[in-house]
Amino acid sequence: MKKYIFATTVSLLATGFTFASAFAQEKAAPTASPWYQKLVPFPREFRFKPSAKAALSESNSDFKGSFGAHIMPINFHAFSLAKAQTGAPPKILLSYYGGPVISRVKVVVIYWDKNVAFQDQIPGFFANITQSLFFDWLKEYRTPSQSIERGSLEAMHLAQKAPFKNLIEDSEIQSQLTRMIQTGSAPPADKDTLYMIYFPPRMQIDLAGQKSCEVFCAYHNSFLKNGEEINYGVIPDQGGGCNGGCGTSPSRFDNETSVSSHELTEAVTDPAVGLVKGSQPAYPLGWYNASAGEIGDICADKQGNVEGYIVQKEWSNSRQTCVSSSSDPGSPVASPN
Ligand SMILES: [Zn+2]
Repeated sequence: MKKYIFATTVSLLATGFTFASAFAQEKAAPTASPWYQKLVPFPREFRFKPSAKAALSESNSDFKGSFGAHIMPINFHAFSLAKAQTGAPPKILLSYYGGPVISRVKVVVIYWDKNVAFQDQIPGFFANITQSLFFDWLKEYRTPSQSIERGSLEAMHLAQKAPFKNLIEDSEIQSQLTRMIQTGSAPPADKDTLYMIYFPPRMQIDLAGQKSCEVFCAYHNSFLKNGEEINYGVIPDQGGGCNGGCGTSPSRFDNETSVSSHELTEAVTDPAVGLVKGSQPAYPLGWYNASAGEIGDICADKQGNVEGYIVQKEWSNSRQTCVSSSSDPGSPVASPN
C-alpha cells in the first residue's frame, strides 16, 4: 500500500475574494415567499414518543466515543500533496468504514438564542441547498444499503431556556438538544434528521478543551439517546476569531454558509463520527480518510456558488478534485513543486 505525505498549509488565503463577492451581488431576490420565510420560528408542536426499545436500552446506550466530534479547524486550508515519489498522480480516497450515511437529510435549524446572526437567511440557505445540484453528485458516496438523495429543510426553532454562557461545553449542548426533543420543542430524531445549532456572538464552545474560533470553526457530532442516534452540527458565531479563518469571502454570511455546507456534507457522508470507540478510525464511521479526514476537510479553502449561495467544495473520490456539483470543472488540490 502506498503511503502519501499530507501537509497542511496555514497561510491566510486572499484568493476567492473577487469571485465570492461577484456572486454575492448577483444573488436574486426570491419571486415568491416560501414557507420558511412566513413561518414563525417557534414553536411547532412535535410529540416525543419514546419507543419500547428506547426505554430498554437507555441505561447503557449513552456513550461518547473518544474518537469524538469532527472539527473544521480554523485557518485550515486544503491539503497539499507531497510530490509522489513514483511520478504517478497521488490519489486521495475516502474509504467506507461500514457506518451509516444520511440518505435524505432533514435539516432542523436551531438558534441558541434570539441574538444568533442571519436568522432571516439561514433557513433559505438550507431549503435551497438541500434541493440543489450540490447534493446530486453525492450519490457516489452511497453505501451497499443506502443512497444519498436530495434533502429538505424540516423546521427551525428558537431554543427555549438555553443558557447563555461565555463558554459552553459540548455535553451541555447535547443536554439542551435532548431536552428540546423530549419536550417536543424540536422534532424527534430519526436516521435522516440533522440538527444544525447556531450560536450567538460572544458565546464560545468548548470541545474537550478545544475552543471555537481559537481551534475550530465548527464541528459535527453524534450521540445516542433512548437508542436513537442524534446527529448535530455546531456552528459558532463566525465573527470574532473565526472571522478571516473560516471561509475565504469578505462576507460574513458567505463564510457562514460555506462553513455550514462543510458540516452539512460531512454529517451526510459520515454522521456517526461521535459513536466511534477508541482513537482510531473505525466503524461506525461512514466515508473517511485516515490522513485527510472527511469530505470537506480536503477542500477546506475551495469555495463555489450554488443557487446564489457560497458553499465549500467537497472532495469527489471519482473525479479526484474538489467540486460543488457534477458540472463544476473542479478545484484540484495543489501539489507543491
Ligand atoms: Zn470537516
